[in-house]
Amino acid sequence: MKNATSKQNALKFVCDLLGHKYKVTQKVTSHVKVYTCSCCNHQLTTDSKGNLTELTPKFQEINKDLERIYRNRMMRLKNKSFTSSNYPLRNIA
Ligand SMILES: [Zn+2]
Repeated sequence: MKNATSKQNALKFVCDLLGHKYKVTQKVTSHVKVYTCSCCNHQLTTDSKGNLTELTPKFQEINKDLERIYRNRMMRLKNKSFTSSNYPLRNIA
């Protein structure tokens, strides 16, 4: 455990010197994403103002809710467009 932590600290030191290498690892909504540093695994997310902020447990909870709401909305939109595009066809028949 102690070794893992010191290794993490060493990587963090490299990141402090050279900067983190963030990659998008999770898409929460169309504009909220989770970024993970491929070097030290430090995670960032997009806050409500569109700024990048540290992914704290609080933001993990917020993102979970956002993702659920976003998916529900997307599903509803998909169903709606499917129904409306079928409607004229049904009218003709
Ligand atoms: Zn890093």
